[in-house]
Amino acid sequence: MSGTYLGMPSFPKAAREAVHNETLRGNLRHATHTIRDKRAKAVAELADWAQLREAGKQIKDRTLRHLDEYLVQLEESVTAAGGTVHWAADGDEANRIVAGLVKATGEREVVKVKSMATQEIGLNEALEAEGIAAYETDLAELIVQLGEDRPSHILVPAIHRNRGEIREIFARTMSEWGRPAPEGLTDSPAELAEAARLHLREKFLRAKVGISGANFMVAETGTLVVVESEGNGRMCLTLPETLISVVGIEKIVPTWQDLEVFLQTLPRSSTAERMNPYTSTWTGTTDADGPQDFHLVLLDNGRTATLADEVGRQALRCIRCSACLNVCPVYERAGGHAYGSVYPGPIGAILSPQLRGTESEIDASLPYASSLCGACYDVCPVAIDIPEVLVHLRERVAGQGGRGHRLEKAAMKAAGWVLNHPAALAAGERAASRTRGLHPKRLPGAAAWTDSRDLPELPPEPFRDWWKKNRT
Ligand code: SF4
Repeated sequence: MSGTYLGMPSFPKAAREAVHNETLRGNLRHATHTIRDKRAKAVAELADWAQLREAGKQIKDRTLRHLDEYLVQLEESVTAAGGTVHWAADGDEANRIVAGLVKATGEREVVKVKSMATQEIGLNEALEAEGIAAYETDLAELIVQLGEDRPSHILVPAIHRNRGEIREIFARTMSEWGRPAPEGLTDSPAELAEAARLHLREKFLRAKVGISGANFMVAETGTLVVVESEGNGRMCLTLPETLISVVGIEKIVPTWQDLEVFLQTLPRSSTAERMNPYTSTWTGTTDADGPQDFHLVLLDNGRTATLADEVGRQALRCIRCSACLNVCPVYERAGGHAYGSVYPGPIGAILSPQLRGTESEIDASLPYASSLCGACYDVCPVAIDIPEVLVHLRERVAGQGGRGHRLEKAAMKAAGWVLNHPAALAAGERAASRTRGLHPKRLPGAAAWTDSRDLPELPPEPFRDWWKKNRT
């Protein structure tokens, strides 16, 4: 599996291929519409949703403003509870730390509970290079790993696969990774879930090292929190002797009381549940109970730079609920892979170019991967104004120059001159109306734009002439 997305084409190129894949479009449409409808109902049940949303935004903003202080507090709390804190400036450093910790145990395999941060830094590949096998245990992640695929959704990484495809992947590849799929496996959800359960149980019972992410870290007590639906996470967090958690520095909340807000907004926004089925919390180590060795790797990897941007920093409020993906008309058609990042959809379009910078082709294209319809902002439980950040990042990309942007700048300059000269504009409008029958449907030299769009038809006479005749 390639989780590092090196050499990905720009969003328009990747999306062009994806929109022609009817199966993918069908899978995505069915899944996103189902989740979005359920989410709307779950949210409508709460009379104080607007206040909860505002509270979540305020808590996150306050935390980000004092992030340095809360991180130090967290380190002290984790250490006092028997854990060890490691600081990683980037993905390479985090991977080195984790590989070193695993090797120190003498183990050669680990089980993982869903962690986007470890996908962001390509941890599985880094461990593989060190001879360590990392087994994903979240069902959707397992499907992605067995299929040598990449995740395409924050919450449902295998959203682009249907039941038939999953059955085929299980039957074909499970035996290469451990316990094979049962004979005669069908595509019924119960049989697929049972096959995964048996396959994973073997790994849980054997693993001595677990690697996790976290949804939240509570600074006052040094507690980490994972919310999930399957219970696999809980197995990963409790059965191994050593637990290593890799978490982005923005995942902090100051107090347990702050959690109250997010434990209401996150499940309703993500799976449309009133409460998520499993909430696991762990604080350091406890004698004879759970992992006896706990390490927390705090990951920066572009977050400090993002925090320095007054407009863009709101992306760090994200609690990864995925509601913005499920309402996005662009995501629904292009799918998650086109974003070339572990964070797809609207949040990916603003977070990835900030974490990675906008120099590469894919990152420079991401702020344009949106229609700016604003549906993502409406559903975001922490009120991230995604369209505002998109426009802000477009300005940054446009400022970098590049062939496409030079053309755009020249067109805008010409348009600016015409709009500043009313006589020229009127003459141009009249000439365009008179020759309207001769206009081509496609613009030579602008095929990328006009091949998929018809130019608007011009009226027989300009509006100003019509107004003069009829209204003055
Ligand atoms: S940006 Fe908002 S809606 Fe999208 S995943 Fe993050 S918290 Fe959820």
